[in-house]
Amino acid sequence: MTTRRPLIAGNWKMNGLSTDGQALAAGLAAEVKDGSALACDVLICPPFTLIDRALNAVQGTAVMVGAQDCHTAEKGAHTGDVAPEMLKDLGCSHVIVGHSERRADHGESNAVVKAKAEAALRAGLVAVVCVGETEAERDAGDTETVVTRQVRESLPIGSTAKTVVVAYEPVWAIGTGRTPTPEDAQAVHAAIRAELTTQLGAEANNMRLLYGGSVKPSNAKELMGQADIDGALVGGASLKVDDFMGIVSCYH
Ligand code: PEP
Repeated sequence: MTTRRPLIAGNWKMNGLSTDGQALAAGLAAEVKDGSALACDVLICPPFTLIDRALNAVQGTAVMVGAQDCHTAEKGAHTGDVAPEMLKDLGCSHVIVGHSERRADHGESNAVVKAKAEAALRAGLVAVVCVGETEAERDAGDTETVVTRQVRESLPIGSTAKTVVVAYEPVWAIGTGRTPTPEDAQAVHAAIRAELTTQLGAEANNMRLLYGGSVKPSNAKELMGQADIDGALVGGASLKVDDFMGIVSCYH
């Protein structure tokens, strides 16, 4: 039995304009309410442009709002970037760092991801640090080696359950409709927790490890039922209230 409270996090990616973004956040808020009927925490991570609207729409409910990326610096000459302090100031609680789309599209290395996670902690945000192997790495049998190395190199020193969430997202499962078997996903999560235990000692047992990659209501229960899977990071299915709530409700 785990005492870790699960977390279901939605990553809206680059989706949503003002009207539909606000409606999505408001729809979730109406379902989640004060959260007392739920057995998990709920987080949404809209694009920067919708964070303020989403925060207003979920005000007074248990829905938390985070961002999808941040810069390492507190302020300065970084055109187009957003500091974690700005996100905190806006009302965000979390920020995703190291998503595979950012690692691929923006060349973010483990060192960059670690610096962003450290910056998030400096600002008082929870860092949701993403790791995951590519299909080629998986086919080569390197999944656990790659993922545990990403964990080792991407997490801030002294990470705790209160400051860091780890999201395991196999790159080949993101947006593809494919998932590892629940047993395979569990095996990687267990390897991640073992790596965290080496780094952080007993605190590793308190840390939430999310699975991400084509999670939907029909496969959530089995995946979330694994011993070391403490919730999900959800992309496509977080864009519809019913789908997202279908995933949230697997913890009822
Ligand atoms: C993601 O991008 O974090 C993700 C898990 O996407 P999807 O659920 O669409 O596979």
